[in-house]
This record gives sequence, C-alpha cells and structure tokens, in this order.
Amino acid sequence: MTRQLIILAASLAFVPSLAAQTWTVDDPVLQRIWEVGMEESRTPEIAQVLMDSLGPRLTGTPGLEAANDWSVDLIRSWGVDAEKQQYGTWIGWERGITHVDLIEPRVRTLEATLLAWSAGTSGPVEGPVVIVPDYQTSEELDAWIPTTRGKFVAIAFPQPTCRPDEHYEEYGTERALIRLNASRDSALGAFGLRVPSPPLLRIRLEEAGALGVLESNWSNAIGVNKIFSTNTGMIPTIDLSCEDYGLVWRLAENDQGPVLRVDAQGRFLGEVPVYNTIATIRGSELPDEYVMLSAHFDSWDGASGATDNGTGSTVMLEALRILSEAYASPRRTVILGLWGGEEQGLNGSRRFVADNPEIVENLQALFNQDVGTGRVNTISGQGLIGTGPALADYLSKIPPEITRHIELDLPGLPSAGGTDHAAFVCAGAPGINLSSVSWNYGTDTWHTNRDTYDKVVFEEIRNNAVLTAMLVYLASEDPDRLSRERRVMSQGPDGQLEWPTCSPGRASP
Ligand SMILES: [Zn+2]
Repeated sequence: MTRQLIILAASLAFVPSLAAQTWTVDDPVLQRIWEVGMEESRTPEIAQVLMDSLGPRLTGTPGLEAANDWSVDLIRSWGVDAEKQQYGTWIGWERGITHVDLIEPRVRTLEATLLAWSAGTSGPVEGPVVIVPDYQTSEELDAWIPTTRGKFVAIAFPQPTCRPDEHYEEYGTERALIRLNASRDSALGAFGLRVPSPPLLRIRLEEAGALGVLESNWSNAIGVNKIFSTNTGMIPTIDLSCEDYGLVWRLAENDQGPVLRVDAQGRFLGEVPVYNTIATIRGSELPDEYVMLSAHFDSWDGASGATDNGTGSTVMLEALRILSEAYASPRRTVILGLWGGEEQGLNGSRRFVADNPEIVENLQALFNQDVGTGRVNTISGQGLIGTGPALADYLSKIPPEITRHIELDLPGLPSAGGTDHAAFVCAGAPGINLSSVSWNYGTDTWHTNRDTYDKVVFEEIRNNAVLTAMLVYLASEDPDRLSRERRVMSQGPDGQLEWPTCSPGRASP
C-alpha cells in the first residue's frame, strides 16, 4: 500500500457516514428540515418509482395521467391535500414497442424509436430503404415522390461521423478537425436545400404510400439521440441511432439493397383531458398569501424523462414531504404545482396562472427547478429588484454546505420562456428558477434516449430538496412581502428589451 493510500484509508476510517453530518442552528425548523432531508431522504424511492415504474410522461399519454394519480396518492400519504386539476385537453396517444431489424443485405437489429404522436405499423412490415435524392429541380422531386410507395424513406442528414467533436479535439490532428467541420458544414447546408421542410416532405411521402419515414436526430455523443414528435398520422416516423441511420443510408446510397422489417406501435386515443398535480398546505396566519414549489411533471418519451424533469419533480415532491414533517403549519399557504404540457409551451403552468389570478397576485415567491440533476449554482432575481435582498437574506440562513456553490444574478433579467417560472414572471410575480450545474445535460440527457434513472446524482438532488424546503420556509415566514418593483430594461442587441408578456397557454391541441 502506498503512503497516500494508507493516509486515505486512515482518514476514511474516521469519517462518519455523510448522513450523520450535523449542522446546528438556533432555528428549530431549519434544523428539522436538515434532519428530515439529509438523514431520511426519500429522493431515491420517489425517483425510482417515477422514472422506472411509471416511466416517461408525455402529455396526453396514459403514462402522465398514471403519474398524476400516483403523485396525488403519495402526497396524501404525507397528510397533505392534493388533487389533479384539469387545465385542458391534448392529443391522446400511447406508445407501444419499436422493433426494427435490418434483414438485407445482412442481419442486424437496429436501435430505433418511434417518434411521439406517430402512427405505428399494423404488425411487422418489410420493405426496402431509399434515401431522399439529390434532386436539381422541383419537377425531379415531384417525379420521385410516387416511387416511394411500399418503401421506407430516409430523409434526415447522414452524419459524417457519430463521434463527438471532443474525440477529434483530443485525438485527431488539428487539420482533421478543420476538415471535418468544413465538410460537415457544407454538406449540412446542401442538405438543408434538399429537405427544406421535413414536416411537408413526411406528409407527401405518407400520401404517396411510403411504408415509413426514417430520421436521426443525433445529440453529439455516442449512442445519444434526441427523440421528439412527428406529424405522420398514417405511417410511422422512426428515429434510428446515428450509427444505425448512417449504416442504412450508406447501404442505400451505394445500391447495396437494405431491407428493413419494422414493428412499431403507436396508438391515437382521441382528445383527452390533461392535468396539473396541485398540493396545498394551508397557511395558519396568512392563508391568502402563497409560496409555491414548481416543476414540470411531463416529459418527452424517448427514455424515462429522468433529468427532464423527473429530478425537478422529485426535488419538489421531496421538499413538500420535508415541509410536511418539519413545517406542517406554515405561516403562508404552500402550494406545489407539478405541471403538464411544459414541453408543448408551458401550457399547464400558463393555464394555472390564467385560471388563478388571486394566487398569482398574492404570490410571495415561487421556486422552480428544471435543469437536470445538478446542484443549484445560480439563482436569478428575474429582474425584480425586491427578490435580490430577500434571496440574499434567505441564503445567509441556510448551511454553507448547500449555498457555497450558489451565485446570485441580480437583478437579472425576466425569463420569457424556457420553463415554468416564466409563466409567473411575465405577470410580475417572483417566479424564481433554481439553475444548476449541467452534468452534460444538454448533450447526454435533455430530451434524449439516455435520460434514465442511472443518470440521477442523488447527492445533488438531496441537497436541492433541502435547499428548496428551506427557501420555501424562509419565504413563508418573511415578515414582509417581496417587492415587485421591476428593473430598468436595457438595450439589447436587437433594441430596447421589454418585460415579457403573458400567454394564456394552450388549453387544447
Ligand atoms: Zn424540462
């Protein structure tokens, strides 16, 4: 054993378990929040059911409604009132299996996912693959469209490499990276002219009797694709991994006769009701003033919606559980909103704002989280001057183990969109977003086929739940209402910046 290892082993022997870490303060509620959140954290159990058993929560699917029902039952088991509140309707759809095999010129099972709100196949279907041609005139394209009948058609850009750029930066020569970027940029530009509008081309192929549309939305990491929705209501639109899409494309481009067998199931369910989960702990002294916990509950469905936004939902549920134990009789009313329809335009939270003006008017503060699994590291004042001193005061009372990573961005700028706090900020209410370190969120998990339970870092979200519970407690106890005075809006690159205006959100598709 080296000397270093001996020292490490010796020091480990004297480190008590992290959960036993103690932190004392005069305030017994903060002390209790710390104990309940740090020593009795339920984040792994909450996240495991949500992400593994319930799974993805696309708006309008039975998966999201099942999660709404589960969340209501879970919150009630903590002795807190909860209900699912319908805010509108959406296109009902249910995902089944996606199974795609290359069967000619050789056999390989491909990594494939039906895009959301796509038609499926009725049972397994076999057919050859063709690629969108490099046509010169629109007449050439018009003549090609009918030839796609009975075929699968690849219409996405074939990546020249499925290695992320970092590989070229780390292992390649400078010249190789320059050449890759130059050739990819010009190929992408040319491909943009070839398929100027994928939605339009899909519809033309569907009408021509193509068997299905093949696409690939690579996320610049090995094996990672983004999985969104499509507009084919009669034939499937299927995302293939970067690697498998490239294989099929090259086989077709080189006349090597690729044939696929596709069994993709997706079922439309008509227009269905959609819900927010709303939980309430009534205030004991100021029941008509509110502090809110906020996260969107819906997700895309290429994986489990783990970091978008299973983690934010878990943080808010756990914060509510902690409060129900440590602060069961809050001064102001505490409301949790787990929103539906965020991915389609913040619809659940925007409808809540439109339907509950008295809550928005009397909102002391709202704390929202929706940027993955990382520890909170930036909090913006959202352009509201009064939030700065209040947030600084609250953070000064919270243990530095949690707050030392946090920077305040004051007065900050009001968010116009992005996630649900923006639905409140546009109304001038203090909608605070808890931004966090990325853990490669944008590339690896955000809207991808790899957004799964294993990517959650529980050390981080446990801290975030304790932080959020403490912020809610301190905002609820604050003797003063937060001022809503707005900052002076400055000149942006495109002219004078304006305070964002509220959209009512879409109550139907
Ligand atoms: Zn999100």
